[in-house]
Amino acid sequence: MPVIDLHMHSTASDGSLAPAAVVARAAGRGVQLLALTDHDTLAGQAEAQAAGAELGVRVLTGVELSLDWQGQTVHVVGLDFDPEHNVIAPLLAGLAQERARRAEEIAAKLAKCGIRGAFEGALALAGAPERISRTHIARWLVDAGVVRDPQQAFDWYLGKGKPAAVPSRWPALAGGVAAIVESGGVAVLAHPSRYKLGSGALRQLLAAFKAAGGVAMEVASPNLPRGMMDKLARTAHQAGLEASQGSDFHGAPMPWVELGRFPELPALCQPVWQRWA
Ligand code: AMP
Ligand code: MN
Ligand code: MN
Ligand code: MN
Repeated sequence: MPVIDLHMHSTASDGSLAPAAVVARAAGRGVQLLALTDHDTLAGQAEAQAAGAELGVRVLTGVELSLDWQGQTVHVVGLDFDPEHNVIAPLLAGLAQERARRAEEIAAKLAKCGIRGAFEGALALAGAPERISRTHIARWLVDAGVVRDPQQAFDWYLGKGKPAAVPSRWPALAGGVAAIVESGGVAVLAHPSRYKLGSGALRQLLAAFKAAGGVAMEVASPNLPRGMMDKLARTAHQAGLEASQGSDFHGAPMPWVELGRFPELPALCQPVWQRWA
């Protein structure tokens, strides 16, 4: 069975390793097919492709889009699309603008809590306003001595319902999925169990995703209890969706996650990566 990892991050978003270093690490762990799926940006793609060519690893074009479905943020992994297609640039430009806006609003809310300098601090870690993710703000809060660890930053300030939570104005699910499909790619719903939806709401999300052109959902990922993975496999099967797999590697921010390391897809699944095998 080839080692395939279709979800990972680099310094182009909130990972700790440069794109080439991510690909080299994956190659070292025996990964033969991968996609670098940074949040809302293609900034790491060229470097990842070059590293893959050098190391003999197949690197698909990838991105993880932040999208809105009925007021809920959902993540869609786009794979193997044409990054030059004219639907992609405007989508990413809107996402970049929203990331920068949201970071400023989060910083303003933190300032109201007496914590100043979060925007500048997170910007120094991220390198550009449109790259700032809540992971960077959490890391800055740790470095500033405000919280003990990133999890506490989410629990005390950044998480849903907390004082510095900001409702995101991400583009709608349907438009984001359509852009991936129009540009010749495959849209995969990321980590469906993380949205904390009941089974009815999850079925509605999957139906909306499929209606928009989505073809697969992530089933195998690290630290997912076996029972949960089996349930996701059945859900995908019932929804008529193929199954994907990926580590969601970030490097240092999540040291317990490793490239290429997650359980094998249950036999019931139709693997999305068969298209590239
Ligand atoms: P953003 O896309 O800027 O909202 O940031 C999302 C990133 O923050 C995710 O990729 C996770 O790495 C991290 N994250 C989100 N929620 C939590 C949480 N409750 N605890 C720790 N990290 C989180
Ligand atoms: Mn992330
Ligand atoms: Mn995600
Ligand atoms: Mn991710």
